[in-house]
Amino acid sequence: MKKTLILAAAFLLGMGLAMGTGVPEVQAKTTFVTIGTGGITGVYYPTGGAIAKIVNQKRKEYGIRCTVESTGGSVFNVNAILAGDLEFGVVQSDRQYQAYNGLEEWKDKGPQKDLRAVFSIHPESVTLVASVDSGVKSIADLKGKRVNIGNPGSGQRQNSIDALEAVGIDYEKDLTAEGIKAAEAPGLLQDGRLDAFFYTVGHPSGAFLEATAGATKVAFIPVTGPGIDKLILAKPYYAKSFIPMSLYPGAENKEEKIDTFGVKATFVTSAAVPDDVVYAVTKEVFENFETFKKLHPAFGVLTKEGMLDGLSAPIHPGAEKYYKEAGLMK
Ligand code: GLU
Repeated sequence: MKKTLILAAAFLLGMGLAMGTGVPEVQAKTTFVTIGTGGITGVYYPTGGAIAKIVNQKRKEYGIRCTVESTGGSVFNVNAILAGDLEFGVVQSDRQYQAYNGLEEWKDKGPQKDLRAVFSIHPESVTLVASVDSGVKSIADLKGKRVNIGNPGSGQRQNSIDALEAVGIDYEKDLTAEGIKAAEAPGLLQDGRLDAFFYTVGHPSGAFLEATAGATKVAFIPVTGPGIDKLILAKPYYAKSFIPMSLYPGAENKEEKIDTFGVKATFVTSAAVPDDVVYAVTKEVFENFETFKKLHPAFGVLTKEGMLDGLSAPIHPGAEKYYKEAGLMK
């Protein structure tokens, strides 16, 4: 009995406090937004973390509470955003293009017209590593090998398929293709259960630090040749890129850099996400640009102007409002 009374009193006290201080008013207005990223050893996960950290600093002003979710990657993120399960996501520029235009994974569903671009972020390279024991020295050597091309839902899966096709390898017939998540691939390569794996990611990435840190000797393999040159010419979203080997001292490579091709990481949302939310997120990232750049080494090359390149879906009106105010867009 006494206990019930005390509880009741505590409840009333709580109510009184809440009504008097205006706290519930702020809480009632809290907008929860979730950013879809990728595996925790990639760069999307810390990228989402960096954006959330900057936005959450202004939680009192905007009433926005930003959280980050580890996901299967680009394709998963696009679909979850359009289903309303996520508000934002990090997505490869090629996947943004394909989703908006109804290509590849979206061929059956058609153009995803509600997809909206916010900004682009770091460059990502189609990265191939192989154990030295596998004898793989070029992408053409992958024939007959056990290779992780990426989980369904990842951005890299189609990049791996494109690269293999470009050198005349049918991923369904000419090799044993695995569809494992990027975070698990380094361990399997070290254990000898994979000969090689592809991952489209910014550098440095924890996945390749892990892949090159064990007893199994591992080397980065160039993704180059006439077939790859043709592929880059044929697809508007692919460009040449390279991976500096200074980032991975554990790799067997003696070269300074490994040539390949790549895309850009981009930040996307849906037309259904309110303008003020997208405005606030965009504004905070751009107004805290120097702080943001320091949050991951892959952001070192970013410029504000460059972050408006590589977008193929329409820019969300909330982001556009900020770009016009900041003089980044006419
Ligand atoms: N590019 C990968 C994807 O779209 C993710 C890379 C990362 O997590 O940094 O699935």
